[in-house]
Amino acid sequence: MRSFNYHKPDTLDAALALLSGNDEALPIAGGMTLLPTMKQRLAAPEDLVDLSGLPGLADVAMEGDILVIGAMTRHADVAASPLVKEKLPALANLASRIGDQQVRHRGTIGGSISNNDPAADYPAAVLALNAEIVTSKRTIAADDFFVAMFETALEPGELVTAIRFPLPEVAAYMKFANPASRYALAGVFVAKTTSAVRVAVTGAGPSVFRASDIEAALAESFDATALERISIDASELMSDIHADNEYRANLVMVMARRAVALAQQSG
Ligand SMILES: Cc1cc2nc3c(=O)[nH]c(=O)nc-3n(C[C@H](O)[C@H](O)[C@H](O)COP(=O)(O)OP(=O)(O)OC[C@H]3O[C@@H](n4cnc5c(N)ncnc54)[C@H](O)[C@@H]3O)c2cc1C
Repeated sequence: MRSFNYHKPDTLDAALALLSGNDEALPIAGGMTLLPTMKQRLAAPEDLVDLSGLPGLADVAMEGDILVIGAMTRHADVAASPLVKEKLPALANLASRIGDQQVRHRGTIGGSISNNDPAADYPAAVLALNAEIVTSKRTIAADDFFVAMFETALEPGELVTAIRFPLPEVAAYMKFANPASRYALAGVFVAKTTSAVRVAVTGAGPSVFRASDIEAALAESFDATALERISIDASELMSDIHADNEYRANLVMVMARRAVALAQQSG
C-alpha cells in the first residue's frame, strides 16, 4: 500500500472541499472494498477522506411515504432497524445476508452502491424499488445511477448522502450466494407497487440490470407460475470460475420464482 494523507472532516462541506478538484483524493466509508483495493495497489489515493465523522449520514427515517436511509448506514444497522423491518422487510433481510458479521458492521449502503460491484446486493434493491440516490449535488433516479461494472453516474468529488426508497406493496430478494464471500452468483429483487412490477438482477451480468421479460410476465400475473415459460438470454451474462453464463441464466429464473413466492407470503 502506498502512503497517503488521512483526513477526517466533521462537516459535509469540509469533506467536499477536500475532494473538490483533487483527482488524487477518494472518500472512504466502511473501507471494505477500498482498503483491499489499496492493499493490492489497484487504487492509490494520495488523500483519503473518511466520511465516518460526518453528522446525519447514518440516519434512517420516514419522510412521508418514503423510507430514507443515510449513505453511511452500515449493513448491520439496516438489518436491525425496527423501521426498515416494519416498512421494507425485504431490504432488512437483504442487508442481513451481506458478507459476514465483520463486513456487515463496517460496510455501508452508500459505499456499496457507489462501488457498484456487479455481484453486490443493494444495487438490485435500489433498482427494483425505483429508489432515488441523493448526492451532494442532485438527486439521481436508480435507472440512471448504475452505469456499468464498478461505474455509476457519480462525478468526481460527488458524494452519496442518502437513498430514498418508495414503499412497495410487496417485495422480496433471493440470492444464490457464493459460499466463500456471500456475494451473489445471481440475486433477484422483485418489487410490486400499485402501478408496476420491477425486477432487478445482480451477480449475473456485468452490472445490475432490470429483467424486462420477467417484469412483463409478472405484471400480467404476479405469481411464480407466470415465469414457467420465461427464460433469460445467457449471451450477455458473465462466465467466470464460479459459474458460466448458462448456469447463471438458469439461476436467475430460479431466484426470480423464489423471490415472487416469498413476496406473496409477505404480502
Ligand atoms: C469479504 C467480503 C464479503 C462481502 N460480501 C458481500 C456480499 O455478500 N454482498 C454485498 O453486496 N457486498 C459484499 N461485500 C462488500 C461490502 O458489503 C461493502 O458494501 C462494500 O465493500 C462497499 O462499502 P464500504 O462502505 O465498505 O465502502 P468503501 O470500501 O469505503 O468504498 C467503496 C467505494 O465507494 C466510494 N464511496 C464510499 N462511500 C461513498 C459515498 N457516500 N459517496 C460516494 N462514493 C463513496 C469509495 O471512494 C470507494 O471507491 C463484501 C466485502 C467483503 C470484504
